Amino acid sequence: MSNTESLRKAQLVVIAVLACFACGWVARAQTPLPPVASGTDDVQRLLTQLEQLVLTGDVVGYLGLVAGTANRARAIEFGRSEFQPGATRAVVKERERIPFGGSGKPTGFRVVVDVFTEFGNRGRVATWQLDLQQRDDGIVVFDQQRLSIVERLYRISLDTTRQFSATNLQIHAEDIDITLDAGNVFVSSVEGGVTGLVLLGRGAMHFHPKPDTERTQVRIFSGSETLDTPFTTAFIRIDPGDAERFMNIDRLTSVPVDPREFKRAAEVFKQDFAKSYHLSLGDLSSEPWSLLPGAANIAAEVHTRRYGVLTYARSKAEPEDITLFDRARHRNIAVYSSEETLARRGRFYNEDTFRDYDVTDYNIDVAASPGRLWIDGVATVAIRVTGPSITSVTLRLADALTIRSITSDRFGRLFGFRVNNQNLVVINLPAAIDEGATLKLTFVYGGHVDSQTPDGSETIAVGQEQAAELPPDFTAEPSFLYSNRSAWYPQATSTDYATATLKISVPTTYDCVASGVLDEGWPRTAGTKEEQSERKVYSFTSAQPRRYLAFIITKLGHVETRVLELETGGKTLTLSVEANPRQVRRGRDVAARAADIAKFYSSLTGDFPYPSLTVAVVENELPGGHSPAYFAELFQPLPMMPLTWRNDPASFDRFPDFFLAHELAHQWFGQAVGWGNYHEQWLSEAFAQYFAALYAQHNRGDAVFSGVLRQMRRWAMDQSDQGPVYLGYRLGHIKSDSRIFRALVYNKGAAVLHMLRRLLGDDAFFGGLRRFYASARFRKVGTDQLKAAFEAETGRSLDQFFDQWIYGSALPRIKVNYRVEGNELAVHVDQLAGIFEMPIMLMVEFADHSKTNLVVPISERSVDRRFPLSSTIRNVEINKDDGILAEFVN
Ligand SMILES: [Zn+2]
Repeated sequence: MSNTESLRKAQLVVIAVLACFACGWVARAQTPLPPVASGTDDVQRLLTQLEQLVLTGDVVGYLGLVAGTANRARAIEFGRSEFQPGATRAVVKERERIPFGGSGKPTGFRVVVDVFTEFGNRGRVATWQLDLQQRDDGIVVFDQQRLSIVERLYRISLDTTRQFSATNLQIHAEDIDITLDAGNVFVSSVEGGVTGLVLLGRGAMHFHPKPDTERTQVRIFSGSETLDTPFTTAFIRIDPGDAERFMNIDRLTSVPVDPREFKRAAEVFKQDFAKSYHLSLGDLSSEPWSLLPGAANIAAEVHTRRYGVLTYARSKAEPEDITLFDRARHRNIAVYSSEETLARRGRFYNEDTFRDYDVTDYNIDVAASPGRLWIDGVATVAIRVTGPSITSVTLRLADALTIRSITSDRFGRLFGFRVNNQNLVVINLPAAIDEGATLKLTFVYGGHVDSQTPDGSETIAVGQEQAAELPPDFTAEPSFLYSNRSAWYPQATSTDYATATLKISVPTTYDCVASGVLDEGWPRTAGTKEEQSERKVYSFTSAQPRRYLAFIITKLGHVETRVLELETGGKTLTLSVEANPRQVRRGRDVAARAADIAKFYSSLTGDFPYPSLTVAVVENELPGGHSPAYFAELFQPLPMMPLTWRNDPASFDRFPDFFLAHELAHQWFGQAVGWGNYHEQWLSEAFAQYFAALYAQHNRGDAVFSGVLRQMRRWAMDQSDQGPVYLGYRLGHIKSDSRIFRALVYNKGAAVLHMLRRLLGDDAFFGGLRRFYASARFRKVGTDQLKAAFEAETGRSLDQFFDQWIYGSALPRIKVNYRVEGNELAVHVDQLAGIFEMPIMLMVEFADHSKTNLVVPISERSVDRRFPLSSTIRNVEINKDDGILAEFVN
């Protein structure tokens, strides 16, 4: 049970690598201990003996080392599982030694060892905990336990004795055909069959994804909706026994090995074999070891002249189990669910369902030294098991942070292994724990972690690429942000609502703002000046669940604190503003504005999700900000900054408070309302953007609002052909142009919300908005929940609307005719491209210069509507002030 569980975990990690960005999975064995100073001791002698017994598979020999007083049944069971026949090499490495028995000479040791056993080209890694008793005549085992195991490791190599000639060999997996018209094939086999193939010769790759969205991305990448490209070499990994599933093996004919061809194949193998399913075992083996792909999984590295190496992978454990990846540029070209997965699960998924635990609380103490970008931490993570039963826990933690120890309330000391370049730590549990059970894991860790630069998530920041060279004497006040990108504390592998307590100590010259309410009586001083150990310690409590923890360290002056009250009574929001010393004056304006914005948003949603909110006004090269729960960082560019960021979808220069309004909205959308996976990020950004636009209207009137909508519309229309809003971070990803992401996820998303409002009317829209907010608060949700809330509010289906505007990327072309007939205005609308559900806005100006807006909701090819008129019409304008995303033709 635990064996297959460990293996399944390992495979999940490998597969995740393929679906993400990295290239190859490498498990890193724990750091070797320094050699024991006094030369070979009793423990080392025992380990050398054990190594020999593992090699010979000698269970009886092992029992000879076990003390007579020990539990024999346990020892026999352990011996039978761990000392297996057929080993060809064995390595036992000591990882940890804890002496027993007070001061003076120890009475024994608890020793943890890694044991690597080779059986020909098959391998097995186990971690044992041995309790040893020191006796006068040497050392004996009195108890033992296996902590973890990874089996079915293979040392794969190219078979030197076999070559096949191929004619029209076809390798077929979902949406891809790899054809070798003529050439040679070399194989790598393990027991059970072929797991690797090297293809040499004249070949062609044909990738033809079914989903329209993915076809668009392939067009952006290659210029055509299907990718057809010749290749001369390729490397394929499959599970042994799967060859007939994927290829017509009758097109392979055995031929004598041609040494020149073999040499070429060996080069390809060497280059590609470690790109997936690969393990490196540190000091246990210098040789490459590989996991098997698993039935029905496949990875193909296709070397094309035009695009470099393209990797196709089918990884059944992933929610989006088909990927095409551009190795050289580290870009996902296509990522989507196979037909089988869609049939089983449907379109929507929540990344949390792929985790078998839920973090309920964090208790973290960190000492941060911003000058060295160094943090030391002690973090207790409270976990509740949500899967049927778990034997390991995978958490996210920056690779740069060294784990000094892991202990648990149930099991005492535990061991973890790191997954290289993945910011992950896997903790094996000595016994399975069942659904509903809880576990606390405490980590002591530390290391160098860079503070985070703003990027797409809960951050609005204009494109760095457009910034001009800075004047050399320009220096913004240094600030250090540790947030969702930094993995600065052990955390769930996907964002996860949990409560937290957080203590942060900083040098006394700095100040700190973090997720949570600053506790009464903090910060306090710790240490002394004399010993140069003086620190300022902050304590924050986050009783409301939040998706992730963040803090910022910089020099701050307190500007002011206000307590706001919810109009409907009850809740309050303590709003504080802190600012870099040069920004205190600006901070006062921000405080007044932030209070107004927060009150306005609470009137729209009926809620303050978090009881306190601190705005930190921080100098930065570019405008923008970042908004974790409980605080918002607002960038304040210095006056000498060049204004080259204006040509950006996120910049609204007619309304300079837009950034602040956007960031504050994230407390409600993005933090209180989370998103279930990357596709749903628009729920955070579009609401933040639309709320900021609504505030612009509230604060500055219709003309400013229209200006904002017009700019959103322009960006959205210009970039819509890059893919649907639902594509999330992948918009602009292939071209490395983040403006495309902002144009669509932020601006088109906001324009879609505005059209929904016009289509439903204000009452239904704002009612649906509140309904959605209430149902989604402190949850990770998706577009389907948003749609359901508006459908419940209005009693009508919105399938067509969301299909076209969120899941689709096409835009309508509309022709509107109108004429006055008697005392009515007759309006006729034709849809010239596709049939969209949307509102058409007509602004009617009467002879007395009064104006009125008419809405014509349409969902068919042709629509006729008549409006009664009470006065003479002077002028009619179509879509004058609104962000309706359509091309209007005359
Ligand atoms: Zn944002």
